[in-house]
Amino acid sequence: MKIICVGRNYTEHIEELQNEKPTDPVLFMKPDSAILPNKNPFYIPEFSDNIHYEVEILVKINRLGKHIAPKFAYKYYDEIGLGIDFTARDLQDKLKDKGLPWEKAKAFDGSAVIGDFLHKNQINDLNHLHFSLKKNDEVVQVGNTAQMLWKIDELIAYISQFFTLKIGDVIFTGTPSGVGKVKINDKLFGYIEDKKMLEVDIK
Ligand code: MG
Repeated sequence: MKIICVGRNYTEHIEELQNEKPTDPVLFMKPDSAILPNKNPFYIPEFSDNIHYEVEILVKINRLGKHIAPKFAYKYYDEIGLGIDFTARDLQDKLKDKGLPWEKAKAFDGSAVIGDFLHKNQINDLNHLHFSLKKNDEVVQVGNTAQMLWKIDELIAYISQFFTLKIGDVIFTGTPSGVGKVKINDKLFGYIEDKKMLEVDIK
């Protein structure tokens, strides 16, 4: 399986990192070795002093598809989840400055937390889905899929022009504002609406 991530999909997050608003979705990938299953500890890697959390809505692909039209995209997923796109921000800033690929900052071991999934039938309106991340006792990120620049079905259509989607692939749909640094002994808790979907201890 592969993990396809969308960058810069929420206006306020684009502004907090002082990035330009893209004309097309920004895409990057993580390998399966990046997966950190729910409730596994995250070990801060020695190559970074500034690991950021980015909480994101996930979409799990359930059938093979290429060049998927937006109006048929809903047929390609049943499950919606929550994850964290851990990012070595210090390294990413250096790579961005040099115009180099982001993989070392984005696709390292443990950088893709994949929490629990809900069947989409359990969700009222996928385009008005509230989610949040708590660090220790503080809510640090709050998002709603209504704020996405590109909605889930549009993302699937766009991504599938470049990459064949396969059963089990996971899409990270981008993070809202409020990203920040983790330190040893922090605990992260992710929610869709009021339901706890993930938990990570930082080591
Ligand atoms: Mg992200």
